[in-house]
Amino acid sequence: MSNLNGSQPGNNGQAKGQPALRVIPLGGLHEIGKNTCVFEYGDDLMLVDAGLAFPSDGMHGVNVVLPDTSYLRENQKRIRGMIVTHGHEDHIGGIPHHLKNFNIPIIYGPRLALSILTGKMEEAGVMDRTILQTVSPREVVKVGQHFSVEFIRNTHSMADSYTLAITTPAGVIVFTGDFKFDHTPVDGEHFDIARLAHYGEKGVLCLFSDSTNAELPGFCPPERSVFPHLDRHISQAEGRVIITTFASSIHRVSMILELALKNGRKVGLLGRSMLNVIAKARELGYMRAPDELFVPIKQIRDLPDRETLLLMTGSQGEPLAALSRISRGEHPQVQVKSSDTIIFSASPIPGNTISVVNTIDKLMMLGAKVVYGKGEGIHVSGHSFQEDHKLMLALARPKFFVPVHGEHRMLVAHAKTAHSMGVPADHTLIIDNGDVVELTPDSIRKGDPVKAGIELLDASRNGIVDARVLKERQQLAEDGVITLLAVITTDGVMAAPPRVNIRGVVTTADARKLSLWAEREITWVLENRWTQLSRNTGGKAPDVDWVGVQREVELGLQRRLRRELQVEPLIICLVQPAPAGTPAYKGRADAEPDSRPAPRGRRDGGRDGGREGGREISREIVRDPARVAAAAAAPAPAAAPAPVAKEPTPSVAEAEPEGRIRRRRSAAVAG
Ligand SMILES: [Zn+2]
Ligand SMILES: [Zn+2]
Repeated sequence: MSNLNGSQPGNNGQAKGQPALRVIPLGGLHEIGKNTCVFEYGDDLMLVDAGLAFPSDGMHGVNVVLPDTSYLRENQKRIRGMIVTHGHEDHIGGIPHHLKNFNIPIIYGPRLALSILTGKMEEAGVMDRTILQTVSPREVVKVGQHFSVEFIRNTHSMADSYTLAITTPAGVIVFTGDFKFDHTPVDGEHFDIARLAHYGEKGVLCLFSDSTNAELPGFCPPERSVFPHLDRHISQAEGRVIITTFASSIHRVSMILELALKNGRKVGLLGRSMLNVIAKARELGYMRAPDELFVPIKQIRDLPDRETLLLMTGSQGEPLAALSRISRGEHPQVQVKSSDTIIFSASPIPGNTISVVNTIDKLMMLGAKVVYGKGEGIHVSGHSFQEDHKLMLALARPKFFVPVHGEHRMLVAHAKTAHSMGVPADHTLIIDNGDVVELTPDSIRKGDPVKAGIELLDASRNGIVDARVLKERQQLAEDGVITLLAVITTDGVMAAPPRVNIRGVVTTADARKLSLWAEREITWVLENRWTQLSRNTGGKAPDVDWVGVQREVELGLQRRLRRELQVEPLIICLVQPAPAGTPAYKGRADAEPDSRPAPRGRRDGGRDGGREGGREISREIVRDPARVAAAAAAPAPAAAPAPVAKEPTPSVAEAEPEGRIRRRRSAAVAG
């Protein structure tokens, strides 16, 4: 097979000079999570999904990771609408936040997904910002002038999930969404393979396909295959059964409820998302379970252990989820018993493995029997394997192919599968977030990329944790913090010794040493930078840039600590201004020589090197009022650059900040 697509290039009736279709993923590539894709043609912009991702290690206090949406904000006038493929967090979780930042006039999606989304939007207070429009299988919706989108039922770990056939002036795009081919779906809703084949027959310009399991050979086992294994563990359990899975794995949860009924166990639910999703799914008829099956968690303790099944969140070891709290003995209602059987019916998302195994360890140490891992047959994926990918390629018969929804190696493996099916290598693109796929009826190419990256939301889900905040949090966590209180008069005199507080810093230097260093930095700033930082307004007191003073002292101390102690704590300097004329504090800095002469860079030579730099001169000036005036009038670079240049440039030394002019100042010390 040389090419899956039988159609000839350029036979779509396209006139030359038509704009290209642009497809721009802003999230979901080179990662699993925050799937967000932009389709553009002419003046129309359509979004497909807008998900979130969870923070990785080092993202302290970050709750949610979203894609950078600068591009959407800049182009919001062109946004005609959004399509949602299914209700997983990595596809809808970003929407409530985005609605606060830019306008999405209408969102089309499956009933279950939009119902879950409604809950999130209500919580975020953005219900009035858009219109939610539910769709049915094979329904076609028009978005803007140029897009019409057909929803093709597919099978996935979540119910009510769709593959999209997007008809554009450039051709038809099949966008798989998350899928597997499950021929015995738990809810009886089959993949509409016939419809997919219909589009393949007509001619598909490009296939964008889910790559999550592209490295795994064979077919993904059907969801039903876990049923007998779960049944065995539940029926053999002597005491309580505790099961954790994703709340959104609707089919899995359905089977667990069915098994509870079959085995004569009542069900207690723990975890907010578990309660929410089950309520929505039952309300909409995606899950059938009698009301009597459920018992409030407070009453479930009155039941015999053999008649109890607890279904809860925490399959990913999330620190605040029910099972994680139970494993730490911190749950108010549930404590682990040695007779418990605890079943992990989920596999860790890459990145969560460590927290999951830690939770398993803790539960085992409490004496419970823990069932987990691949060999038990208690979990299957919701995403296609290689043979399923081949089936998708065979049905869609695309001219061009772009693997999406996956980390880099998954994309590469998926492209390989496509090549094995006859899609030529130059008809395939491996792309990253922000890349622009430009498609015409005869060509595929990468255009100039748009801005892509991440936005981090803190625990409140309102504040954005920007790069600076994250860096500060990492510094706090890894290197601790030093606070420094300096009393400085409005005429630039240090009026008291600086007070230093150290928290979480591993250092051989004691507070006294640090306070001495701080004193040196303050003195340096007062001697060399005061003129720039204070502006004489003509009145009595000069207008002082106190923030600038603080920043200068912080930077100086930071450099010194990096150099002398190889630590980089967060440094916070607070200046308490004192009235002009307050007597100067007679510092120790002059009395005590630097025990470890610092390596000198351009700046340090002038800053505190003293021995050949400006400092020594400036000290003399301090002591000889007659020379003060002369030196003040003299041009600045008396800081003897020549000796500095002879010394090797130390690696830690930084280039002089732009515009830093060394000028000696006398007023502060003359008095
Ligand atoms: Zn999904
Ligand atoms: Zn997904």
